Amino acid sequence: MLPAEADLQLLFARLNYEFFSGEAPGCRIRYNARFSNSAGRISYTGQPMLIELSSKQLGRRPDALQETLLHEMIHAWCYARFKEMGHGARFKRKLRECGLSSIYHDLGNAPPLRESTKRYILRCEHCGLEALRRSRPSKPSSCARCNKRRFDPRFPLTVYEIVEMQAVGTTLERTAARKGRD
Ligand SMILES: [Zn+2]
Ligand SMILES: [Zn+2]
Repeated sequence: MLPAEADLQLLFARLNYEFFSGEAPGCRIRYNARFSNSAGRISYTGQPMLIELSSKQLGRRPDALQETLLHEMIHAWCYARFKEMGHGARFKRKLRECGLSSIYHDLGNAPPLRESTKRYILRCEHCGLEALRRSRPSKPSSCARCNKRRFDPRFPLTVYEIVEMQAVGTTLERTAARKGRD
């Protein structure tokens, strides 16, 4: 059973006292049944900020409520103090201080998070050729257009890593979409 919405403020106050010395900014907290791609999210734009908890996800895992709220409170705290959104260094430091280990909390019996489609773009800075790879090339490679015959160190391929974080199944967080939500 999830606590009543009114009780969420009590939980907020307790966590605020315990982990933020009372310095987390007051937030509006409510359940929202309409999203389920993450367990919680925060909108920075409102005054106060709005924390929404997915009743769909947390209804299945009420034990994850506290850490979900705590996660969003860290976002609120980072934003109030440093105007920082997302999962930057400060966020992560505070997260560890609060005893949470990962920005993607493992919900136990939930399917494991697939850090999903990590992919690589190999780009020739000389001619602009780009190729998409699923894995990072294990040995040096050079542009096949600039030199069709053999490896040529004059035309190295730069490796760009693309990390598309996708919440697959039940996770606590989805990549900040930079729309004022985390
Ligand atoms: Zn090239
Ligand atoms: Zn987050």
